[in-house]
Amino acid sequence: MPKAQNRKSAKFVYFFGSGKADGNRTMKDTLGGKGSGLAEMTNAGLPVPPGFTISTDVCTIYYKERARIPLAIDREIDENVKKLEKAAGAQLGSTDNPLLVSVRSGAKFSMPGMMDTILNLGLNDQAVEGLKRRTQNGRFAFDSYRRFIQMFGNVVLEIPKEAFEHEFDAIKKAKNVKLDTELDEAALRDVVGRYKEVVQKRAGRAFPQQPSDQLKMARDAVFRSWMNPRAQEYRRIYDIPDHIGTAVNVQMMVFGNTGERSGTGVGFTRNPATGKKEFYGEFLINAQGEDVVAGIRTPQPIRELEQVMPKTYKQLRDITTRLEKHYRDIQDFEFTIQDERLFMLQTRSGKRTGYAAVVIATDLVSEKLVTPKEAVLLVDPESLSQLLAPGFDPAEWKKIPVATKGLPASPGAASGQVVFSADHAVDWTQQGKQVVLVRRETVPDDIHGMFVSQGILTATGGMTSHAAVVGRQMGKPSIVGAGQLDIDEHARQFRVAGQTVKEGDYISFDGLSGEVKIARVASKPSEILQVIQGSLPKKDSDIYQRFDKLLGWADQQRRMGVRANADLGDQADVAYAFGARGIGLCRTEHMFFGEGRIPIVQRMILADNEADRRKALDELLPLQRGDFYEVFKAMRGSPVTIRTIDPPLHEFLPKREELMVEVAQLEIRGKDKRLLEEKKKLLQRVEQLHEFNPMLGHRGVRLGITYPEITEMQTRAIIEAACQLHKEGLKIVPEIMIPLVGHVKELRDQKAVVDRVAAETMKAQGVKIQYLVGTMIEVPRGAMTADQIAQEAQFFSFGTNDLTQLTFGFSRDDVGKFLRIYQEKKILDKDPFASIDVDGVGGIVTIGVQKGRQARKDLKIGVCGEHGGDPASIHFFEKTGMDYVSASPYRVPVARLAAAQAALSVKVGD
Ligand code: PEP
Ligand code: MG
Repeated sequence: MPKAQNRKSAKFVYFFGSGKADGNRTMKDTLGGKGSGLAEMTNAGLPVPPGFTISTDVCTIYYKERARIPLAIDREIDENVKKLEKAAGAQLGSTDNPLLVSVRSGAKFSMPGMMDTILNLGLNDQAVEGLKRRTQNGRFAFDSYRRFIQMFGNVVLEIPKEAFEHEFDAIKKAKNVKLDTELDEAALRDVVGRYKEVVQKRAGRAFPQQPSDQLKMARDAVFRSWMNPRAQEYRRIYDIPDHIGTAVNVQMMVFGNTGERSGTGVGFTRNPATGKKEFYGEFLINAQGEDVVAGIRTPQPIRELEQVMPKTYKQLRDITTRLEKHYRDIQDFEFTIQDERLFMLQTRSGKRTGYAAVVIATDLVSEKLVTPKEAVLLVDPESLSQLLAPGFDPAEWKKIPVATKGLPASPGAASGQVVFSADHAVDWTQQGKQVVLVRRETVPDDIHGMFVSQGILTATGGMTSHAAVVGRQMGKPSIVGAGQLDIDEHARQFRVAGQTVKEGDYISFDGLSGEVKIARVASKPSEILQVIQGSLPKKDSDIYQRFDKLLGWADQQRRMGVRANADLGDQADVAYAFGARGIGLCRTEHMFFGEGRIPIVQRMILADNEADRRKALDELLPLQRGDFYEVFKAMRGSPVTIRTIDPPLHEFLPKREELMVEVAQLEIRGKDKRLLEEKKKLLQRVEQLHEFNPMLGHRGVRLGITYPEITEMQTRAIIEAACQLHKEGLKIVPEIMIPLVGHVKELRDQKAVVDRVAAETMKAQGVKIQYLVGTMIEVPRGAMTADQIAQEAQFFSFGTNDLTQLTFGFSRDDVGKFLRIYQEKKILDKDPFASIDVDGVGGIVTIGVQKGRQARKDLKIGVCGEHGGDPASIHFFEKTGMDYVSASPYRVPVARLAAAQAALSVKVGD
């Protein structure tokens, strides 16, 4: 490639400084979140230390080229180092005015604490003397150098931290001091000497003295940290793709640890836990950035900065208010004050709880900062489910004394058995227990344990410590900085308020008030659920009103309808209250499991002649009709799709093995001959019905074809219920759906039964109603011949559960045995039963939609597999041009919001 063209088309390094940046806020893909924020703040004239961002493309190249960076990129980095030296007025490695830089990761999506960072880079044996001269502070210079060697040694050279800590402690002991700060310059010089020896011994090389070597090595270590296990686990949980890579930000160091007029902090423009409009955050005087997030020292609330440095505080407030107006969203920022001079180090949209997200989005509209349409895009649909999570019953909660209080980092009620390690949290949860993870502080390696716990409780750390940030993001109730907890992680117990709590004991806490109690406390439905269930008036719940408002805005934006999968009247009521306007799937077999019905169903199955079978079906008819009546009524005239029976019949009979044991026992006892005969007959029928692959067996439309009287009974029950409501003045257009159709002739067979019985029933009822007959598309052959099937079907509903099973050939019942390994080996990113496999299953869906509509223009199409409630899948369904998605009742709000966001961000046919 010609050089000029190469340079023009490929820029890998983006400078920011002196009021101008190469990048901007729209370049998150290339610069990562941090890099684009730094560029945008620089362009806005804010005090940002200069630096440059090495783009995410370089990370991709690093992995593609097996850990090598092409020379041209190295040269581009060198040019930017020169620019940075000019902007900073200092040089890397200089003996009188050395430039020190930080090297930090920064992916498109924030991954707090998951990747590596190196501070104070550029120091060497000469530059440290230069730093001493410039700052007139030898202690500071050598403390910075020893921190750098330790961080570089650990992150880049992979020497365990303990190796350094051991030397540090030895010197402290020799000098007879307790605190790090008590060591003077001479002692720190000693520490530096010993650290260099540690490097020589452990890494088999001298500590690199060339700043350019240090920079390259640090950059590569950050790229390597993209693939460390905890970062991978984090991406798996949050569905962040591996291929996007991280950027690397190299930036002039500013120091919050030069003395009492310096400090560092983090904050939010609004409260990220409750959404309240209040300046929120923490700072530490005389500290470096990592000290705040690491949760080792408990920082001061940010408002106290006003007393310590009023002018700087005012400047910070002005800047952050400007940032919020500029980005039109809550901002999460980091700053450092060096000798009373304020520097902004980061700004980004703040992570928030689901509760806060709804409060902030509705407030921003009231404040006219965003339009309702924009507000719809500000809330993560998945986070809405946090608002439906239970809380404690206040009366029960009040009865128990408060054992201690901590900082309320993430709201919600948590109750469970105490565990002290992330691994135990996972093990115990797998045993079916509910656990609360109690730690002195959490670290990124705890992520798997935090994910499964009911809540997280820590003894140290502030509102922005690791536990607080991650807990909030996961929507886990969390309390941090509960300083009275005296935790002995080794002995697996803690003491508080004169009591000892051992691993396995129950505790409960309220993440909104920060109160911890030593007891198990029952929880109760969320405020929103109370309104939905009618036990709390709408006007008494501020959060319900906001939730309702936001979803109302979402409804104005979405193209697709949202229905619910509900089988009974009360489920349909909940779904309607959550905004579902229609039932996408009523699984009639679930009604067979209702109280007192199983014996009738079993009689139907055991019948060895049609007459007996019909007798049992006649008994089922009024029961089914009653259920259909309730579901229709709950939907108040919105469409209701009812599916004829789907599962194989042996699912309604006792298990074969259990029956065998019963028969053997009855034979041994030899008393109850009649019962023995009955059980033997049952066993014989169970054996007749036994299948090797029930999922591929005698189910769905195949049942209706072999036992048409079942389809007849169900059709009659549906039409009678609809006729009844018709007489009562509610017009219902039932949608009768035949499952598992792969061949048009299957559907034709069943449609003939439905049409015949519907006509008979309407005649008998003296009412004429409209009804539709359609099919599920859940067998690949059904999708591939959708044009033929659409000749018979008036609607399609994609059953993506079975379609996934049959497309991959993964049994829905057995996939759990190997899916985890598939994900670990990166064969699959996501569970295809939870989020649609766009390329494979999605491709078949697309073909099905296109072929179906070719044959019948007005074909109504929806989806009723679990994917109908998954935001990423909903995004895909929007593109296919489907008419609606159907989700479980509690997922309906998530689906409404996700459908609106999909409509706002993609187009049908994309
Ligand atoms: C499906 O297969 O996607 C579906 C909705 O049907 P079921 O889960 O009942 O098989
Ligand atoms: Mg199915």
